[in-house]
Amino acid sequence: MLEPSTPVQYVKGIGPRLAEVLAAKGIATVDDLLHYLPFRYEDRLNPRSVAELRAGEMATVIAEVRNSGLFRTRRMPIFQLTVGQGRSKLKCLWFNATYLQDKFQPGQMVALYGKVEADRDGNLQIMQPQFEILGDINEEGGADEAEKKAAASLEIGRIVPIYESTGQGKLTPRWFRRIIRWALENLKPDLPDPIPAAVRGHLSLVSPREALFKVHWPDAGESFSDLQSSRTPAHIRMIFDELFFIELGLELKRREQKAQTGIAFQLNDGVREAIKKILPFHPTAAQKRVLKEIATDMQMACPMRRLLQGDVGSGKTIVAFQAAIIAIENGYQVALMAPTEILAQQHYFSARQILERAGYRIVLLTGSLEQDRKRDIRRHIAQGHAQLVIGTHALIQDRVEFEKLGLVVVDEQHRFGVMQRLKLMKKEGAAPTQNHVGADAPVRPAERSSAPEPDVLVMTATPIPRTLALTLYGDLDVSVLDELPPGRTPVVTRSLLDERAPEVWEFVRKQIAAGHQVYVVYPVIEENPENTEDREVKAARQMHRQLRDKIFPSLHVGLLHGRLDADEKEHVMREFQQGKLEVLVATTVIEVGVDVPNATVMVIEHADRFGLAQLHQLRGRIGRGAAKSYCVLMHGGKVSEEGERRLDAMVRSNDGFQIAELDLELRGPGEFFGTKQAGIPSFRVANIIRDRQLLEAAKREAAFVVSGPSSEISQQEIDRALREMRSRWALSYGLVEVG
Ligand code: ADP
Ligand code: MG
Repeated sequence: MLEPSTPVQYVKGIGPRLAEVLAAKGIATVDDLLHYLPFRYEDRLNPRSVAELRAGEMATVIAEVRNSGLFRTRRMPIFQLTVGQGRSKLKCLWFNATYLQDKFQPGQMVALYGKVEADRDGNLQIMQPQFEILGDINEEGGADEAEKKAAASLEIGRIVPIYESTGQGKLTPRWFRRIIRWALENLKPDLPDPIPAAVRGHLSLVSPREALFKVHWPDAGESFSDLQSSRTPAHIRMIFDELFFIELGLELKRREQKAQTGIAFQLNDGVREAIKKILPFHPTAAQKRVLKEIATDMQMACPMRRLLQGDVGSGKTIVAFQAAIIAIENGYQVALMAPTEILAQQHYFSARQILERAGYRIVLLTGSLEQDRKRDIRRHIAQGHAQLVIGTHALIQDRVEFEKLGLVVVDEQHRFGVMQRLKLMKKEGAAPTQNHVGADAPVRPAERSSAPEPDVLVMTATPIPRTLALTLYGDLDVSVLDELPPGRTPVVTRSLLDERAPEVWEFVRKQIAAGHQVYVVYPVIEENPENTEDREVKAARQMHRQLRDKIFPSLHVGLLHGRLDADEKEHVMREFQQGKLEVLVATTVIEVGVDVPNATVMVIEHADRFGLAQLHQLRGRIGRGAAKSYCVLMHGGKVSEEGERRLDAMVRSNDGFQIAELDLELRGPGEFFGTKQAGIPSFRVANIIRDRQLLEAAKREAAFVVSGPSSEISQQEIDRALREMRSRWALSYGLVEVG
């Protein structure tokens, strides 16, 4: 009998080599394998008959091969297959598919899946359908007669799971079907259910075993649309299961955190006055509200853990400076961490402009400083002389000792991931450990550290829908800056073909003549002669030369990219900031945080090659002053459909939340919330956008469990759920460190 934890190698049909291929896919155990869910299902119990197909629909068809062959057009070889049912016929076409040449024999039964279309004569056809030759079990070889029969019975006369092929196509949907079926049949029968009965009851969850079985092999009567949308009882059980144990961990961390000793900062009139004094402008209503939320947290005795979301340009920096003053006025030190040196430098400049006048002592700690200088600065920090320390996260979090650290601000958190964020808060890196759950169980005093935990403010421009943020960053409170400073006119965005470049450069000249500055952005630093596909891509370095020498010979054109050393970067950035350069040619290094309000034009070449969020972040560099700003998205015309949609979204909208939603839709949550990007764990079966409601249910149920035993739930059940949670966190999220 197989246990869920059995290595996948013990499943019949999986040898060491295939086990390796699967491992690369994250499938190491039987449990992993059983969580490799079909991405769709085919109804081969009631397949559509050819006669009733309609153009425009996605359909599964089971029919007999009539004939097939390859014919060549001038542009490419096309493989044509004709299948039939009685007198109805259906044509299937594949482009460039010489490999299909000897695949089909007349008389074979095939299952086809694809979009039905009408050809020029009104006959129905399917282009490039997915297909399976039914009964053709020899494909994978090795099976004996009885096995072949059994395998064949998995292919027709039922709802059939379709898995994504993997291992360079070697592991086909059919292969997965056979393997997973065998694993299910040999799975030990009594799987314990770690979810407490009361929770199961609240959501009418089916048992783990039933869920595993039916998610792969649905009953004939199962709703087909529920299957396709992952809403069958089996799906719901598996998705909830995954989310519940994540939320349970988060809930516990939240409790532990609230029980920790922080710093209760004083907010007296003196401090209030100091905060107001530095303001170079009237804060927006949103900035006032958010500062109040932060100040309230800072006054409380438990450590602040707050996420500040605000679209690019919404004015997060000044709010952070104000929070810093609260800490400094209370005699504490503040660390402000930025993801790049450029941004750290920039924060340093603005901090000096805004805070140094008020007499605060600010230091910048970057990797490019000389060793001696670094040592000096470190000493300043350790002795408590430096009050505000600005630097990149790598520098600050690893090696710097503070005399009295009171507040940590992490800017552009989406660039860090949660892991680094936690490292700074040292003790919290570990999975929740304690077991003081229960209505009257006290927090063990031994867990309190002697030094109080600093407050932490995390800032991000990645707009995660609020409920989602609350549920995912379970331990963070969320503030939103949902208002731009006044006097901004929305950036005008146009998408233009490359051939209109001369007009664009003319426009750039005019803007510069009017006293403004311009960014020109490229996707790569250097041309890559080895990559033929990329040979036509214009690169920052080459284009810098051309723009400087040929296109704008009378202007000052600078170049900024990630491979310059820190000094060079700083130099270029400063010259641009001071207006000595009119044009800055750059890569996406300028994506975050760069703030030069006088820049009013951004030209992005090969704009279709950038992601949507990236384009929006880039565009956020302009439109920062009162003057009208323009973003020009250049492209060569051969744009993919998705690229088209991205450009279109940019032209239509300036709203970060709207753009994020579309981005989410285009890329899917996996990419959007790439673990690196946002520090959110990758899920096996859940999709946090699709499963938003289950996520909220999971959070609710987790809180219910953590609140302790009652008539509904016993301490024993709670302990069992917590044990399961800990082992899962250690196993799956140990590296990610949620929340
Ligand atoms: P982000 O939220 O993207 O980090 P910044 O903090 O860099 O935005 O602010 C963007 C620009 O808006 C800066 O030039 C800043 O000085 C300016 N700004 C911020 N708040 C206000 C305000 N209330 N009124 C006018 N300008 C503001
Ligand atoms: Mg910023």
